[in-house]
Amino acid sequence: MARIVQKFGGTSVADIDRIRAVAARIKREVDAGDEVAVVVSAMAGVTNQLVDWTRQTCKLHDAREFDTVVASGEQVTAGLLALALQDRGVNARSWLGWQVPIRTDGIHGKARIREIPTGEIIRRMREGQVAVVAGFQGLGPDNRITTLGRGGSDTSAVALAAALHADRCDIFTDVDGVYTTDPRIVAKAKKLDRITYEEMLELASQGAKVLQTRSVEMAMNHRVRVQVLSSFNDAPGTLVVDEDEIVEQQVVSGIAYSRDEAKVTLIRVPDRPGVAAAIFGPLAEHAINVDMIVQNISEHGAFTDLTFTVGKADLDRTVKVLEEKRASLGFAVLKPDPNVVKISVIGVGMRSHVGVAQQMFKTLAEKNINIQVISTSEIKVSVLIAEEYTELALRALHTAYGLDAS
Ligand code: ADP
Ligand code: ASP
Ligand code: MG
Repeated sequence: MARIVQKFGGTSVADIDRIRAVAARIKREVDAGDEVAVVVSAMAGVTNQLVDWTRQTCKLHDAREFDTVVASGEQVTAGLLALALQDRGVNARSWLGWQVPIRTDGIHGKARIREIPTGEIIRRMREGQVAVVAGFQGLGPDNRITTLGRGGSDTSAVALAAALHADRCDIFTDVDGVYTTDPRIVAKAKKLDRITYEEMLELASQGAKVLQTRSVEMAMNHRVRVQVLSSFNDAPGTLVVDEDEIVEQQVVSGIAYSRDEAKVTLIRVPDRPGVAAAIFGPLAEHAINVDMIVQNISEHGAFTDLTFTVGKADLDRTVKVLEEKRASLGFAVLKPDPNVVKISVIGVGMRSHVGVAQQMFKTLAEKNINIQVISTSEIKVSVLIAEEYTELALRALHTAYGLDAS
């Protein structure tokens, strides 16, 4: 007998037929004698609608009320799935975040899970009851509903699997595994049988939304065996594993892209000690995350240009914060550009191979794609390019690194 957590994403519970199909799948597991806890997302599109309603109501919304609204989608699917299971004769009940309770910190809209008491759920699972837990939501220190950031149900599932000491955490989605790149953009993308935690973490944090970044962090820290698979068929999925469980290591195992970036260029910034601190300090104070940064060496020693990226959603605030400080910072022009994409090639094999970055630059040059910013880490090379070249760049790089499915 195994104890498993199964998570179903938005498209997997998009309507009543899909919820019934999910219930049938869970029943198979229960009939096989396993203890099952389930985590559900809201129906596809519902969270977007809820976010939109809060924005329409009040632009500068109270984050606590925002969470009260956007967490509601998961309440509906948790209840409906419990009903669909009962309808098939399966003993099941729904659990909202506050009922478990899934305790989080108080950062509304982006809360982190701190603790999940599991005594009662385990007692009921042992009696054969399926726990259907609403994903994405928790309970803050202020006793109010929190949410875990977009895509957060993945993290709910992995955290629950860790707390339950589950044998496995199955993440059911609308693709049958983790691919070498987004299969919706590159038709030749290949499904990976296995991927290391580290590579999955980079892929997720660089934009592959198949798993939320925090869920991978959590799986890595608690050694949860995560499997990504489709709720639409029975194809084998992708296992996220330790590096030593991978027999044949590729140099590059995946390519991710993120359209969430925006570029800011400051022209003629005075080139003196303390200027970077003066620019990035106020952004940090406004909780604006800066990702890539390049600063030119100034030709005459007096002025330099500085380019960096922030999240697209933070671009307007970034411009406002810096324009307000223009006099003290002393730059001449601020140029915002939201039409950029960050493309990242990822692979643990990069540690021992040279030439990966060069291959990327050469491939993009052959397609006449200009690179605006570059950044690297031990197992990743990222470039910023114009957004219009996203598909072209992804496909060319996928072929260049030998990743195309034959
Ligand atoms: P869910 O609603 O089930 O959580 P998501 O939409 O959050 O599903 O994530 C699944 C999507 O992730 C896929 O439909 C696919 O377009 C996208 N995706 C991006 N990169 C990858 C990748 N490397 N492998 C698989 N899917 C990817
Ligand atoms: N429903 C939430 C979202 O759309 C959480 C999730 O799907 O994982 O972001
Ligand atoms: Mg998701």
